[in-house]
Amino acid sequence: MSEDSLATADIVVVGAGIVGLCTAWELSKRGFDVVVVEQRFVGFGATSRNPGALWVQTKRSGAELELSRSGVAKYHEYRDDLGDVFGFTQKGGIVFAEDAEGANGLEEYARERASAGLEVSLLKGRALDEASNIMPDGAVAGVFCDEDSQIDPHQFLTALTAACARRGIQVFEHTPVLSTIRSGDQVLGVQTLRGRVNAGGVVWATGAWATILNLEGIALPMQTLRYGQVMTQRVPGENGPILRGLRGTFGASALEPWASTTTTAPLRGDLLGYDDTLVQNRGGSIYVGHSVDGLNSLNPHITLDASRAMLEIAGERYARFGGLGITGLWAGLSGSTADGLPIVDRADGVFVNAGHAWGALSGPICGQLMAELISGARSELLNSVSLARTSLTGL
Ligand SMILES: Cc1cc2nc3c(=O)[nH]c(=O)nc-3n(C[C@H](O)[C@H](O)[C@H](O)COP(=O)(O)OP(=O)(O)OC[C@H]3O[C@@H](n4cnc5c(N)ncnc54)[C@H](O)[C@@H]3O)c2cc1C
Repeated sequence: MSEDSLATADIVVVGAGIVGLCTAWELSKRGFDVVVVEQRFVGFGATSRNPGALWVQTKRSGAELELSRSGVAKYHEYRDDLGDVFGFTQKGGIVFAEDAEGANGLEEYARERASAGLEVSLLKGRALDEASNIMPDGAVAGVFCDEDSQIDPHQFLTALTAACARRGIQVFEHTPVLSTIRSGDQVLGVQTLRGRVNAGGVVWATGAWATILNLEGIALPMQTLRYGQVMTQRVPGENGPILRGLRGTFGASALEPWASTTTTAPLRGDLLGYDDTLVQNRGGSIYVGHSVDGLNSLNPHITLDASRAMLEIAGERYARFGGLGITGLWAGLSGSTADGLPIVDRADGVFVNAGHAWGALSGPICGQLMAELISGARSELLNSVSLARTSLTGL
């Protein structure tokens, strides 16, 4: 190894979020010698800043729904591989309405979802109130689907990192990648701040930061957004289904026609949208979110407008929890594409696994798809996340 060489491997994966580590794991299982290079530390990006809600019922029929279902199925496999240590529960999810208009809309939504092949049920009155200990005070109707699930993303990454180490996958933290190394058309590895990593293939799994491939002339059809999150102290009682309302349907494509027109999120300043989720973590804290702003900015800091939107919504909904402490307030950066699906493909010699807007769900299955692509396999699911798909244009 030369003085400037940090490591040599079959494949180098750039980025140690859920997408990078799942890709490394899948490649290693197929016999590749893999190293991972991370600019800060494992889970520095969006992966450790999200509540791990795995929404299936809100995904549009077709590729999005299919990828989501495969995404949940993939976690069953990971539970077998890593053990039951990352809080994976198929606890179901409820989309709720807070007025008559919303309740009527949810009836139509439930019919449309049933015709898409999902088993859903309508909840009202006592059944709705008793379905969750964090059901908002004003909820009047809901649609339950038991395919919706949840993981603890931090615990998942911790378990996966340990399992990767046991398989001999080296993860270099505090090692920013500056560029790919090329000779003509061939990619020979990456240049990091600590030296070269020589490899036969490079996987770029850097979340929102994938846009820096622009500097190498690779313009990915994706944009980046900043999602906000508020966390409260623990609410006593049993931890129930994941919840979402209609005040903003950002990221919930199947719900878009039924977004509320009467009780929308306060979109002040530069806020672009609202993703109206309410989820409890394993410890019982409520995660309220998400404000959406920061188009194509890599500034990760939450704004006052974003914080206010989430706090106002929480305050209105939870008169009964008014005394609850706020224990966290943050934002994270995520990629997104025109059709809501990630990109798993090769671009100018570099394998790209990016553009995940709901990567807690799509990350593990797309790790598998990337390993299949590198191994030469092809599938319908892989086609649906390729750069060649027509639905990718139009951002
Ligand atoms: C507040 C919030 C809530 C969310 N809620 C949910 C949810 O409930 N369910 C869901 O499915 N999804 C959710 N998401 C989306 C989900 O978090 C992301 O889609 C997912 O984490 C993306 O994973 P990733 O590995 O692609 O990116 P990241 O986790 O961001 O990882 C990318 C990694 O690459 C590293 N990196 C970047 N550039 C370089 C470089 N040059 N050299 C080396 N390393 C580099 C970064 O440091 C980072 O660690 C949420 C996101 C946010 C921000």
